[in-house]
Amino acid sequence: MSSRFYVVALDGGAGTGKSTTAHSLSRALNLMHVDTGSHYRAITRALLDLNISPGDAGGYLNKNKLPLSTQVIDGRSCLLIDGAGFEQSVLRSPEINESVSDFSSQASVRELLFDYQRTQVQVARENNFDGLVMEGRDIGTVILPDADLKIFLEADSGIRANRRIQDGESDQITNRDEKDTSRKIAPLIPANGCIHVDTGVLGIEEVTKSILDVIETLT
Ligand code: C5P
Repeated sequence: MSSRFYVVALDGGAGTGKSTTAHSLSRALNLMHVDTGSHYRAITRALLDLNISPGDAGGYLNKNKLPLSTQVIDGRSCLLIDGAGFEQSVLRSPEINESVSDFSSQASVRELLFDYQRTQVQVARENNFDGLVMEGRDIGTVILPDADLKIFLEADSGIRANRRIQDGESDQITNRDEKDTSRKIAPLIPANGCIHVDTGVLGIEEVTKSILDVIETLT
């Protein structure tokens, strides 16, 4: 593999295996792993702690700043709000699973994260990674439309729901997907030119290998 810098956009619905795939790719190619779902989860937590409802997010964020910064830990880029990070157990609680899509559909919340997420390319360069893999819902369509490679992960809804149960999570993934695909701003849709990968039929090694094979062909 040459030493060029790879920008990989990885989108898909809840439970399609984005995080597992992104982690695996990041390890294989020394890419920084950016999980943008965790950004929306962290903002949701911060606003809920301030007793702000989704409908009031715009009014609050217009007048108040949520200072965002990054800490890179073990190949992962982690969002800090006002200097503080968030445990995975906090970000993946039933309360956050239930409300994150209502916050992420707000223009004010998406605007807050838009610039921050784009700066992650530079963060990856500064931290000597050979690129980055950014997972989410609008990475190939909105955040990194010029990515070297755009992947859209899919899987049968029953398989996805089972994965959540196996993770011990309470998560109405069909409900979230419905909200995420039908919202007005940056809905979950496959990007032009993306490669569709069905993670329901392939195991993680096969998914990773099929994506690595495509990256191998990039010049
Ligand atoms: O990926 P994850 O399931 O952790 O994402 C949580 C939620 O964050 C999604 O259901 C969606 O509402 C929102 N999200 C988004 N855009 C992204 C990533 C996540 O709207 N790029």
